[in-house]
Amino acid sequence: MEKTLVILKPSAILRGFAGEVIRRFEQKGLMIIGMKMMTLSDEILAEHYSHLVDKPFFPLLRRSMQLSPVVVMCVKGLEAVEVVRKMTGATKGRKADIGTIRGDLCMSGQHNIVHASDSVENAEIEIRRFFKPEEIFDYKSPLTFMLYADDEI
Ligand code: UDP
Ligand code: MG
Repeated sequence: MEKTLVILKPSAILRGFAGEVIRRFEQKGLMIIGMKMMTLSDEILAEHYSHLVDKPFFPLLRRSMQLSPVVVMCVKGLEAVEVVRKMTGATKGRKADIGTIRGDLCMSGQHNIVHASDSVENAEIEIRRFFKPEEIFDYKSPLTFMLYADDEI
């Protein structure tokens, strides 16, 4: 099964939406296999947003990610990367579909509640960036038999 990385951004923490966002992943049937609170250094943000470091908005983006600690999560499920991206919605909250996390909880394109890995390859890199191997808990859920049919897993 796939693993993906989610960050509850300061916009989630400061607006009191950590529980709401976690609830949505749990309700969907994704398993939380890693979760911790941390502050994000300039270094880790430059690495994590390396595709954006040269953009004029990068200093503002970095500041937005340092307004409070964040919660980083690793969630697991069948095709979890695609599922979590769909649940996250488009980058700009005001354009994101209603029903998605961003579409339901924010207006901003920067203070947009969550980060979610955009490919299986990047998910692996990002999980390694934020978690030590011993911080990922690959336990079994007794509910797996109800979440997936036998021929799906
Ligand atoms: N971002 C921003 N201004 C922009 C584009 C992106 O502040 O014009 C921020 C926003 O917080 C976004 C993050 O940079 O979530 C990463 O951008 P990306 O294009 O990877 O979007 P995402 O994958 O988060 O939807
Ligand atoms: Mg992205």
